[in-house]
Amino acid sequence: MPRPIEALIHVAALTHNLGVARRRAPDAKAWAVVKANAYGHGIENVYEGLRGADGFALIDLDEAQRIRALGWRGPILLLEGCFETRDLELCSRLKLWHAVHCEQQIDWLAMHKTHEPHRVFLKLNSGMNRLGFTPQAFRAAWTRLNALPQVDEISLMTHFSDADSERLGADGIAHQLEIFNKVAADLPGERSLCNSAATLRHATRVGGDWVRVGIMGYGGVPDFPEHDAAHWNLQPAMTLRSKIIGVQELQPGDTVGYGSRFTAERAMRIGIVACGYADGYPRHAGSGTPVLVDGQRTATVGRVSMDMIAVDLSALPQAGFGSEVTLWGKGPNGSALPIDEIAHAAGTIGYELMCALARRVPVTVEHLS
Ligand SMILES: *Cc1c(COP(=O)(O)O)cnc(C)c1O
Repeated sequence: MPRPIEALIHVAALTHNLGVARRRAPDAKAWAVVKANAYGHGIENVYEGLRGADGFALIDLDEAQRIRALGWRGPILLLEGCFETRDLELCSRLKLWHAVHCEQQIDWLAMHKTHEPHRVFLKLNSGMNRLGFTPQAFRAAWTRLNALPQVDEISLMTHFSDADSERLGADGIAHQLEIFNKVAADLPGERSLCNSAATLRHATRVGGDWVRVGIMGYGGVPDFPEHDAAHWNLQPAMTLRSKIIGVQELQPGDTVGYGSRFTAERAMRIGIVACGYADGYPRHAGSGTPVLVDGQRTATVGRVSMDMIAVDLSALPQAGFGSEVTLWGKGPNGSALPIDEIAHAAGTIGYELMCALARRVPVTVEHLS
């Protein structure tokens, strides 16, 4: 018997969530963002559920190759563009569209030998100060690109730092949107501004020709806890589940786990779950983090160790050895435990937990029936 832990990928949920994005931005095309191995879900595992998108956006060139190997002939966008000059050869060969965010990338294009001119997404740094040309340098970059025979169409993109919240008392996108609209005003080309948070919260106002659907495609909520998955009608695309492999009866004063971080105040029964931080469960999730046992909500007890977690069974007399434990995602009988809640309890975000699913966890794909 293998350890009972496994991750399930719900293909139907991916398709559903993509549909939610499309309804928020009905006039835009949708990039399915599949960087970081599809946010930990596995590119090959999510392809069936996301192939209804208009294109795939990602960062690593080997992930672009994997999407092409799956038979995708439509657009693929490298969100950070090329990292060195020879990456352009792969772009030509696989017809990859790529971001251009700095002068070096234009220099490489100018030297690149290709029969097919490239479609590029010129990136404006509208205030996030990660990648992109400043508003002052943007037009010169556009003019330079536009003069290159290696370049076909030029699209315009930027990225919001605060689409999920407010910023300095104002809505989180106003300052960047104003800068983008001013700089891009009379430039031709398609526009792409919205990530998941902007698609959910601001799409009607921001507009644009392409939205970039990341976390929401996987059922994660970009503005949790202000809103939750039910509010946005998102379904979890990943379930992490395991089983109880041991049971302990505690007396008042007994402690649980490393560091004795939990002390029983009364007699209680706990279950030991085959899941730990080496599976990707966050060690920072303290006692009291929600968990489902046989679909019923209870809480963790004590520290997360490498291969095990303890959960409180005191209120669940039917539960015991072999009971199903849902760490996040869909539980039995229609129950659910949003990944955002676990992330919140651990002081992080759903994105990080998805991406950190460990290699040792076997993954099963639930295909469309
Ligand atoms: C990752 C990424 C996205 C997707 O962001 P989500 O918050 O997951 O929707 C969009 N645009 C760029 C440039 C990204 O790097």
